[in-house]
Amino acid sequence: MILDARTILLLMAFTALPTALVLVAVSRSYAARVRGAGHWTWANIALAAGLLLLGLSATGDSLPARVVGNTLLVLTAALYYLAIQRLLGDKPHSRLAWATVAAAGIVFTLQWSSAAPYGLAVGTLSIALAILTGLSAARLLLPPATDVPVSHRFTGLLFLIGCLLMTARLAYTALADHPPDHLFAADFWQGVILGGAHIITMLMSLGFALMIVDQLAAELGRQATLDELTGIGNRRVFYSRAEAELARCRRRNTPLSLLMIDLDRFKSINDTLGHAAGDRTLRRFAELVGPHLREYDFFARLGGEEFAALLPDTTEEVALGIAERLRQLTEAEHLPAPGFAVPTTASIGAAQLLEAERGIDELMHRADLALYAAKSSGRNRVVAASWLEETTAVLPPAGRPAAAPAVQAGAE
Ligand code: GH3
Ligand code: MG
Ligand code: MG
Repeated sequence: MILDARTILLLMAFTALPTALVLVAVSRSYAARVRGAGHWTWANIALAAGLLLLGLSATGDSLPARVVGNTLLVLTAALYYLAIQRLLGDKPHSRLAWATVAAAGIVFTLQWSSAAPYGLAVGTLSIALAILTGLSAARLLLPPATDVPVSHRFTGLLFLIGCLLMTARLAYTALADHPPDHLFAADFWQGVILGGAHIITMLMSLGFALMIVDQLAAELGRQATLDELTGIGNRRVFYSRAEAELARCRRRNTPLSLLMIDLDRFKSINDTLGHAAGDRTLRRFAELVGPHLREYDFFARLGGEEFAALLPDTTEEVALGIAERLRQLTEAEHLPAPGFAVPTTASIGAAQLLEAERGIDELMHRADLALYAAKSSGRNRVVAASWLEETTAVLPPAGRPAAAPAVQAGAE
């Protein structure tokens, strides 16, 4: 059985068009977040146009078919490559892609004008497509990151198979005893290669759509867990992380500490310099603290100007040292700007998980009481929950808690 090349080309053209339309809809809906969908759409439009020019020509040898049709197929592969780079957030390396399209177009024109045999056009097309599909396969299968989504591997594999098919077509045209002498010649292997290219090309669009879905899912995941203003963890992810750490520390019998941090007199920044300056201050504070925590600590914004730092495998004593460092850093930064009359500082309550505590809420409550004590005793200071418990178990009066070691500094 010999697969009919004309039928395959026209089928490919008619499947590329609806795929392009679906991607137009996707790129319109998600243009802001999904990059590359526009390029992929144009690629499919170029594919459909190129295939129609070839499939509707008498022998595939006319100027529109051989030069324009084939160049459009190379353009398709170039746009696929650019779409992939954009989707993955690369700075596009477009020079090689455009150079391949231009070179192929020139060679097709020269071959057509010198009435070069069909095999040379097939060779040119196969080399150009093998280069571009190979580049796409390499980008998807050899990324620097380790956690590559399945959709990337799937699409990368399709591009690799596409590259191998083009190499096989080149080899067949160059080495076969009787290679096909025109596009619609009844030739078994040409039919197999074109049929394979049809299936692979359809699946590539499916792969790209899956990559878009993965990208959107990752974006939604980020939005659900990150605080939009500062880019650190939000309240929601803080609770789930804190519960998980609590369970882990219980299992391993290791300490777990928590810092509750509230910026002092923050309202005066908003009132004096405006809300945008307040926002900048919150962002700056988050940037300031992040590098001073360990990799396995977890820093989150609970809301407003209130933050929390979860410190696994950390005793209250060590947590106090960390808190004091953060307090000093904040004071030294003189936020929101040098010379501001009432710079914000940090009041911090520190607490270590007790044997008897069952959930994270109890630990947070004690850290909150310590924070409240830090506020009421003058702000810009660190208070440990244990100091309160050692004294009266009720909130201390204004002034430094009686049992406090010399951790706090910086008074009003
Ligand atoms: P204290 O020292 O007692 O903590 O005083 P404070 O002014 O820091 O605290 P207060 O609770 O009186 O005010 C907090 C302010 O934080 C009020 C609110 O407008 C501001 N705020 C909360 N969320 C944001 C935000 O996302 N951006 C900005 N710019 N301000 C915020
Ligand atoms: Mg405050
Ligand atoms: Mg507050």
